[in-house]
Amino acid sequence: MQVTVTAKIKISPDSNQINLIMDTVFAYSRACNFVSEIVFETKNLVQTSLHKIVYKTLKEKYSMRSQMAQYVMKTAIAKYKSTRSNKHKYNLINFKKPEYDLVWNRDYSLVKGVFSVNTLEGRIKVPFEINQMEKYFDGTWKFGTAKLVNKYGKFFLHIPMTKEFDDVKEENIDEIVGIDFGINFIATSYDLKGKTTFFKGRHIKDKRAHYKRVRKSLQQKGTPSARRRLKAIGNRENRWITDVNHQVSKALVTEYSKNTLFVIEDLTGIRNATEKVNKKNKYVYVSWSFYQLRKMIEYKSELNKSMTIAVSPKYTSQECPKCNHINKSNRDKKNHKFLCKKCGYKSNDDRIGAMNLQRKGIEYIFEVTKSV
Ligand SMILES: [Zn+2]
Repeated sequence: MQVTVTAKIKISPDSNQINLIMDTVFAYSRACNFVSEIVFETKNLVQTSLHKIVYKTLKEKYSMRSQMAQYVMKTAIAKYKSTRSNKHKYNLINFKKPEYDLVWNRDYSLVKGVFSVNTLEGRIKVPFEINQMEKYFDGTWKFGTAKLVNKYGKFFLHIPMTKEFDDVKEENIDEIVGIDFGINFIATSYDLKGKTTFFKGRHIKDKRAHYKRVRKSLQQKGTPSARRRLKAIGNRENRWITDVNHQVSKALVTEYSKNTLFVIEDLTGIRNATEKVNKKNKYVYVSWSFYQLRKMIEYKSELNKSMTIAVSPKYTSQECPKCNHINKSNRDKKNHKFLCKKCGYKSNDDRIGAMNLQRKGIEYIFEVTKSV
């Protein structure tokens, strides 16, 4: 099994380096567009003959050094080849966003706190912060083609890192954890020892409701400055959601050792789950990016030599985990309570969800290992 994660590394160029990097990024995408037009007109996808047509212009008009000129041709040719193999229509390809794809060891390297990158004026060395990325520098991870990202005036490298892991085998699973997602509790887990863990959503609920109110009033204003603030708040809110999802997924996964099966609800198509929340006797709809949380649990469990499966959410909130009696009225959604109409089993409704998911995981392991 191959795991790919994107490492985000902050680099700290000085002002001269910033100018040089930005010049390079813009020159690179302008040069790609120039070559793209030639390829479109001539249908020439052979680099050696294309070289004869474009090289001089790339050098003189776009200030490309010879090596970078070759990469520009390669990039443009590769884009046309991939649209052709995907059977797309033969259209002019436009490199819209200013982008500069950095190939590991060709355009960039990261050694001992120094990011070395190719620019219009040759290699420059920029300090970078390693932060939580140490584990990717142990020699076992492969560095992919990086993207240089300029966000909020800061510079980042987004690097896809890949590593080959041994597959986790179902017959080695020795812990099964059901995880229920919700707004009241962002996540509730239930394991084989009968331990329940709640990840409180109370502060999240309040903060989401607060953001929502602010957004609404800014939308009503509609002035340019209100729109700018709206965008800034949206960005801040997204960063905060990602941060909370990182914390919750990390806490969930690292609580268990390897060979754990995590069982979550398959909410395909639902990127965000919404719940009506009673706040000061006023209902507001609050949503959360459970899709992102799910993706994080999936890759973090793989890194931890465990696995995650998504199962159908059917009846997970209505079925009694003790006697299997299914009844919609078993659950009192408003008060977050569950009471089995048949056997009288009582619990918090999110915990019931986690218990039922865990049982589906036990059934899954039973079925899979039976047929081996
Ligand atoms: Zn029951």
